[in-house]
Amino acid sequence: MSEKPPANGPSIRVSPRGASRLKEGHVWVYRSDIVSTNDAPPGSVVTVTDHRGKPLGTAFYSSSSQIAIRRISHDPVADVSALLRHRIADAIAYREAVVHDTDAYRVIFSEADGLPGVIVDRYSDILSLQILTQAVDADSVRQLLLSELSDRLNPNSVVERVDPRIRELEDLSPRESGLLQGDKTSTIVTMNGIQFHHDALEGQKTGSFLDQRENYAAAAQIAHGDALDVFCYQGGFALHLAPHCSSVTGVDSSRPALEAADRNAALNKKEVEWIEANAFDLMKDYAASERRYDTIVLDPPAFAKTKRDLDAAMRGYKELNLRALKMLRPGGLLISCSCSCHVGQSDFLDMLASAGRDAHRQLRLVELRSQSKDHPILPGVPETSYLKCAIILVSY
Ligand code: SAH
Repeated sequence: MSEKPPANGPSIRVSPRGASRLKEGHVWVYRSDIVSTNDAPPGSVVTVTDHRGKPLGTAFYSSSSQIAIRRISHDPVADVSALLRHRIADAIAYREAVVHDTDAYRVIFSEADGLPGVIVDRYSDILSLQILTQAVDADSVRQLLLSELSDRLNPNSVVERVDPRIRELEDLSPRESGLLQGDKTSTIVTMNGIQFHHDALEGQKTGSFLDQRENYAAAAQIAHGDALDVFCYQGGFALHLAPHCSSVTGVDSSRPALEAADRNAALNKKEVEWIEANAFDLMKDYAASERRYDTIVLDPPAFAKTKRDLDAAMRGYKELNLRALKMLRPGGLLISCSCSCHVGQSDFLDMLASAGRDAHRQLRLVELRSQSKDHPILPGVPETSYLKCAIILVSY
């Protein structure tokens, strides 16, 4: 990253469509809306201008991603390092205000914290860092992140989780996941009074689905009877339901996830039955054999990874929800989630309504929830709002 004040540094011209996107509050400009890059170096900090040369703010530039521009400020930025330090402090202060009952939460959420390309999760005394763009992969930014995070959060260790596909898209040299600081790679975290083992170099994402943390608590408040947690991963919902339900079964296709779930159950001294299965097959068999539950959680992976997958994704969601609705006893609860940002809230509700009609069940929406507050949403950036969690009472 250039340390030169970007006001005198490279500038990039965007098309009228790119300019209106920024004016409307989005922070990205796609490559197809770039008019000229004026040879801006990969990962540089640039001034964005409209096609007439009027400045539209300061941004990180990527020479290879489809998202060429990620705005970091509406204004010229004289000292990029100072801006980054300020944003980090701001992100930490926000979590101090909104995060409760846990030592596992997202500290920095990329665009939503004005730090595009940076994700930091805290798992008690371990920080997990993801670097997602050319600009933040620069040594100077990496060092700044490490020293600010260490000074402010005083972790035992910092681990970097690498997604090779993202490094490829950003035209960055391959890198392994590993320790950046300290030597501790596993710990125990607590959410809402439930404990989880955390292995910083294992598992999906940075190890857990921290975005569901507040939904676990909401589900626990209302769950009862015999519970089925479908797509249970390491037992996030199942272990929160266990103290309130007479039986809990968790289903996932990943054996390592279920082994971790079992260790988590032992840690909390809870009895949960774990089943390794394809959820679609299992739901079909269970519905056909007239199994009945009082609480069912559906938290599938993102079926719609792109807009093109949307139709198939909606069919997948509908099939699962329909089967779950058929299996619920009257007064039962369906906790149905979708983590795909391409599935809008109204698409999701339409799908649920249609599954309810087909199942001949009466649904009441008790709560329509989203991601935990440590994963903030920018109103002008729809991609930052991705998780839907509907808590539904099936009256009859
Ligand atoms: N509810 C979990 C997160 C679920 S993530 C939590 O709160 O922690 C989605 C999970 O679905 C992953 O664990 C993945 O292994 C599992 N999965 C993906 N496809 C599956 C399938 N067809 N059948 C069963 N599980 C599947």
